[in-house]
Amino acid sequence: MKRTNTFDVIPQSEKDEELLQRLLDASAALWNEINYERREHYADPNADVWDISEYRGRYGDTLGASTVQQIERKNREAWRSFFALKKKGEANGKPGYWGNEREGRELRTYIRNTSYSVEWGEYSRLEILVGQDLKDEYGLGHRERLRLEVRGNPKWEEYDKQGRLELFWDENAQTFRAFQPVTIGTSRLVQPLAGETAALDIGANNLVACTTTTGTQLLYEGHDLFERFRETTREIARLQSLLDDGRYSSHRIRSLYRRRTRRRDHAQDALARHLIERLHGEGVSTVYVGALTDVLNTHWSVKANAKTHNFWAFRQFIDRLACTAEEYGMTVETRSEAWTSQECPQCGSTERTTRHSDTLTCPCGFEGHADLTASETFLRRQTTVARPMARPVRLKWNDHEWSESPHSCSNEERTNPQVASVGR
Ligand SMILES: [Zn+2]
Repeated sequence: MKRTNTFDVIPQSEKDEELLQRLLDASAALWNEINYERREHYADPNADVWDISEYRGRYGDTLGASTVQQIERKNREAWRSFFALKKKGEANGKPGYWGNEREGRELRTYIRNTSYSVEWGEYSRLEILVGQDLKDEYGLGHRERLRLEVRGNPKWEEYDKQGRLELFWDENAQTFRAFQPVTIGTSRLVQPLAGETAALDIGANNLVACTTTTGTQLLYEGHDLFERFRETTREIARLQSLLDDGRYSSHRIRSLYRRRTRRRDHAQDALARHLIERLHGEGVSTVYVGALTDVLNTHWSVKANAKTHNFWAFRQFIDRLACTAEEYGMTVETRSEAWTSQECPQCGSTERTTRHSDTLTCPCGFEGHADLTASETFLRRQTTVARPMARPVRLKWNDHEWSESPHSCSNEERTNPQVASVGR
């Protein structure tokens, strides 16, 4: 399993800061030189893009030979992906420069996996390789590395392998920052407790309705979130209509877009984690996901559909879910679940049922919570469910976390027809 640690990097003195800056600036200068040469070769029908000069001689003493090699490799990768995109007709320009000398270069470097080390603890630190000339100039010993303080908690303290470190100056946050890719072996991951199964129904009013083979039903409410998303969308549209001719955006509009996305992503991340942890506790090892059922209903216009897709960023949510599940040794599988949202679990009819807001009713006498019923029907299609369903658990978002609502689902919302009829 591959993950990335992100952390802030703080030089311990002005001298260290200057050294780090020079290291990153020289890296950018090297990148720009390589890139310039490649662009020249690209324009010349007699030249080969892959054939570039030897840069170790001029940059090795500043950056260290392995960092020179990493930047060459990174640039080669950028060109390779440019050619791959070009082949598909999706290229968006040749690889660019990391700033320029006159206006300032973008401070950035890539350090080979064996040329740095991170130590996590009370005083976490990062040690990176620098070239001999910089060592001499700044008084580092022959075998010494530049030692920097690390701030922020690494998500992945224990791993089996570390990859190439990306170290850069983050202009927005006004701090140095690092991305450390790590590989985590399966032996370090949590294993499923049993072989149970869960099925999810994903929508907008109820973000996730879930039924498990252990008889648990969970309902994550999305109504308030969705409403706020729509409010922001309306506000964006209003501001757009007020723009002068020829202008298509403004600072305020961009900031609303960002806020809308941030809010959604935050709730989605938290939902994926809350749900997966809960399912792990239930002994679930496989999660089936169906696609957006309530938006397929006829009362949703095409426009509303598009907005819901936008709201959910469905693909992104499935990726998040799969990513979180992987940490628990669980797998997520997507299945088409056409008709499950309309199917009556009692008589199997898909044509006679009616959905009114959250309730699904059928002339045969069935009445239940529409999304929970859909997830249960979906689950029964994937596997056999032997246990009876417990009372559903309703979860609400309070802008920070998902928690059980004090008003759990009432009997009318029970999806198990036998139990539902007892209350009447
Ligand atoms: Zn029926």
